[in-house]
Amino acid sequence: MGVYMKSIYSMTIQDLESFLLQHEEKKYRASQIMDWLYIKRVNTFIEMTNLSNNLINLLKDNFYFDEMTIIKEQKSSDVSKYLIKLFDGNLIEAVLMNHDYGNSLCISTQVGCNMGCAFCESGRLKKVRNLESSELVLQIMKVEEKIKTRISHVVVMGIGEPFDNYDNLIKFIEIINYNKGINLGSRHITVSTCGIVPKIKEFMKLPFQVNLAISLHAPNNELRNKLMPINKAYDINLLMKTIKEYLDNGGRRITFEYIMLEGINDTKECAKELANLIRNMNCYVNLIPYNETENIGFKRSSKDRIMAFYDTLKKENINVTIRREFGGNIDAACGQLRSKENIWKHFI
Ligand code: SAH
Repeated sequence: MGVYMKSIYSMTIQDLESFLLQHEEKKYRASQIMDWLYIKRVNTFIEMTNLSNNLINLLKDNFYFDEMTIIKEQKSSDVSKYLIKLFDGNLIEAVLMNHDYGNSLCISTQVGCNMGCAFCESGRLKKVRNLESSELVLQIMKVEEKIKTRISHVVVMGIGEPFDNYDNLIKFIEIINYNKGINLGSRHITVSTCGIVPKIKEFMKLPFQVNLAISLHAPNNELRNKLMPINKAYDINLLMKTIKEYLDNGGRRITFEYIMLEGINDTKECAKELANLIRNMNCYVNLIPYNETENIGFKRSSKDRIMAFYDTLKKENINVTIRREFGGNIDAACGQLRSKENIWKHFI
């Protein structure tokens, strides 16, 4: 494979059109190629029978189909976890959740993560590399192939920090959003970030209305600095100012994720401080019962404490939900993806 070659799944319709024009081919062939890839789902160029041999050869010379395989699946009643092997042997995971409104796939954006959040397993494993946009697209396609059903929602909340892989993330969104392809509406896509402010600013300038979730987890700098190193670069005040700008610029309702850590961020004072921080914003808080992991000392807040936190926020007129728990029994919970890969390796 030549080094100049690209994955065909990394190409947006516009990328394909300009490629074709550069090579004296007709622009409309781009939508035919997209149709083969994302509607008919062939995975060789030779099967694209309405293209000329010249064009097929041109495509073969310039593009490849990624090697990516689901090597293990773990299922419980409402959630399935997929261990996926990339072309270079690295492993990532995607998690499928069944909801009453459809199903949503939680995808990974990096092999490992460099954000170093104190409570998170993925952070312990450090970033090995970014995923290519094709590798983001293919997580959806491989899982759809497996379950023989369309995925209705995508949440970019798996391993990695999506805004630390920004360009590939945006290409990915453009590709899955293309209406004669995978056609996932932007309102069905949610990106979760730990709060990389310059990227939130770029993101708000984009023409599509993708949902944004912010991993907040603490209502003040002192505590957030301890839990999330990113706060030392972009502190809470700057983050909130940026989110206000985002909302003022027509951004859709923001979700604040808040994991519940016993005795750390789950007191009544924290709830009140949180309420004051986000009052009058078009937002809601999603309280996430922390998934304990054997390697990290944090404990999950008790049900009572979670309920008390919830009640305080409600009384303060904050929209709040408690996340339904998925996958706790199969280590599919956020932050625990891939951390057991060494154990998995024995089975591969
Ligand atoms: N880097 C992005 C997306 C990946 S993490 C972000 O920070 O948002 C997805 C979510 O899972 C984040 O809110 C993260 O803080 C949370 N998380 C990490 N470890 C967790 C755990 N053990 N239990 C519950 N949530 C966890």
